[in-house]
Amino acid sequence: MSTVNETLIRDVVAEVLGRLGGSTTATAKPSGAPAPANAPAANCGCGTKSASAASVPLRGKFGVFATAEEACVAAQESYLQLKQKGVETRRKIEVIIKTLAEKNAEVWGKLELDETKIGRLDHKIAKLQIIKLVPGVDWLRPDARSGDHGITLEEYTPFGVVGAITPSTHSIPTLSGNIVNICSAGNAVVFNAHPNAARCAAVAVRAYNEAIYRETGIENIACIIEKPSLDSFNALCKHEHTRLLLVTGGPMVVKAAMLTGKRAICAGPGNPPVFVDDTCCLTRAARAIISGAAFDNNLLCIGEKQVFVLDQVADQLMQKLAENGGVKLNSAQLDKLTKAAFTFKEGQGGGCAHASVNKDYIGKDPAVLAQAAGMNLPSGTQLLFAETEASHPFVEEEQMMPMLPIVRVKSVEEGIAQSLKSEHNYKHTAVIHSHDVENITAMARALDTTLFVKNGPSPAGLGLGGEGYLSFSIATPTGEGITNPRTFTRVRRCVMVDNLRIY
Ligand code: NAD
Repeated sequence: MSTVNETLIRDVVAEVLGRLGGSTTATAKPSGAPAPANAPAANCGCGTKSASAASVPLRGKFGVFATAEEACVAAQESYLQLKQKGVETRRKIEVIIKTLAEKNAEVWGKLELDETKIGRLDHKIAKLQIIKLVPGVDWLRPDARSGDHGITLEEYTPFGVVGAITPSTHSIPTLSGNIVNICSAGNAVVFNAHPNAARCAAVAVRAYNEAIYRETGIENIACIIEKPSLDSFNALCKHEHTRLLLVTGGPMVVKAAMLTGKRAICAGPGNPPVFVDDTCCLTRAARAIISGAAFDNNLLCIGEKQVFVLDQVADQLMQKLAENGGVKLNSAQLDKLTKAAFTFKEGQGGGCAHASVNKDYIGKDPAVLAQAAGMNLPSGTQLLFAETEASHPFVEEEQMMPMLPIVRVKSVEEGIAQSLKSEHNYKHTAVIHSHDVENITAMARALDTTLFVKNGPSPAGLGLGGEGYLSFSIATPTGEGITNPRTFTRVRRCVMVDNLRIY
C-alpha cells in the first residue's frame, strides 16, 4: 500500500470514528498527527488528580468532547503543538476558518436557524459570509523602542487555552470569529455554547478541526463541550488549563464569569438607543434604522432597539419608516402585542409590575409579532414600529424583536437624557442621526458607549458599511471593546541592553 493511500485510509477511519462520536479506546492516533509537544505531566506531585493528554482519549474527536476536562486537555495539547509549529500555522488556521465559514454559510445558516428558531435565514447566512472581515494574524505587530541603551521589543504572546461562552443569537458566527481572533494570537479555545444552539456549533467545530488537522496535523485547536450545561460552564472556568475567559451573552453569564476568579473578557448585553434630531436627512435615517433594527429580526446586541425623535420631525420620520419597509401598529395593536411579548410580575411591595421578555417572541419574524397584535402584514415587511411612552417595556427591555418603539421628545437634551436612561449604563452601543456636530458630540459624551454610530445603521459600527473591523464579541463591561487578536494576548517585553541599535 502506498504511503498516500495508507494516510488517506487512516484519515478516513479517524474521521468516520469521529463522526460516530469516536471510540474512547479503539480510535488510533490519526496519521500525521504530531506527538504532543511538551504535554503536561500526569501528576504535578501535589496529590490532586489531574488528567493529561496521555490519560484522556483525544484522537478522532476533532474538537467535540463530552466533558470540559477532556476538551481542556485536548485544547492544551493543541496549543502546545501550535506553539511549536509557529506563525505560518496560525495563518493557515485563520484562512481555513474564513474559507469554511463562507463556503458553508448557507448550510450552516439553515442548520442554526432550524435549531434555534430565531432570526432570519438570509441574515444567518450573511453573518457567516462576513467572517472574512475578522482580523487575524496580521493584526499582531510588536511594539519596538530604540535608544542609547539598545532596543526593546514588546510582543503580543498567547495565554494558552481560552474558555469561551457563546450566545444563542449567533452561535456559529460568534464561535467562528472567536476562533479567528483567539487562534491567530496563538491560543487554543474551548467553547461552552448556549444549549439551544450547541448542535450546530459542534458541527462547525468538527468541520473546522477536520480541515485544520488535514492541513496542519493539529486536531483540537478549537474544542467544544457537546452538551453544554451550567456544570460544564463551571468545570470549564475552573479548569487549570483555562487561562482566560471570553463571555458573549446577557447579564447573568457576565456576572457568573466575573465570580469565577479567572480574568474574564465580557461581551455583555446592550439596549441601543437611537436619537433623531431635526437636522438629519430623514430618508437616510429611516433607511438606516430599518436596516439595522430588522437585521436578523433584531437579535444583534448592537441593533437599534428604541428611537427618540424630536417632536417636530416625528411624523415625517414615521412616514419615511413606512415607505421603507416598516409597518406602524396602532395603540390597540401595540397593547395586544405587548401583552403577548412580555410577562408582568407584580412588584414586591412597590406595586409596579415588572416586565420580562417572553422568549417565545425573541427573534421571531414580523409576521409572528403581527399575528399576536391581531393584524396582517403586507409582504416584504421588514420591521414593525409603534409610538410609545419612554417607560414602555419595548423601550426598557432588551427585547430582541423586530418591533421598534418610537418616542417623541421635546428637545435635544431630553432626547439624549432618555437615550442614556434606556441604555441602562451597559455602555454598549448608541446611534444618532444628526448633522449638528454639537448634538453629536453631546450625545457621544453623555452616552459613553463602546460603539457610537452617526448617520448610519448600527452594523456600520462593526465595519459593515462603515470603516473598521468585525467581531461578534464586543467587550463592554470589561472595556476591551471590539475584540481582536490582541485582546487574547499577554504583552511580554524583550530587552537588548546597549546593542543592536544599528545607527
Ligand atoms: P444568554 O445570556 O441567555 O446566554 C449567553 C451564554 O451564557 C449561553 O452560552 C448561556 O448558556 C450562558 N449562560 C447564561 N446564563 C448563565 C449563567 N448563569 N451561568 C453560566 N452560563 C450562563 O444570552 P443569549 O440569549 O444567548 O444572547 C443574547 C444576549 O447576549 C443579549 O443580552 C445580547 O446583548 C448579548 N450579546 C452580547 C454581545 C456582545 O458582543 N456584547 C454579542 C452577542 C450577544
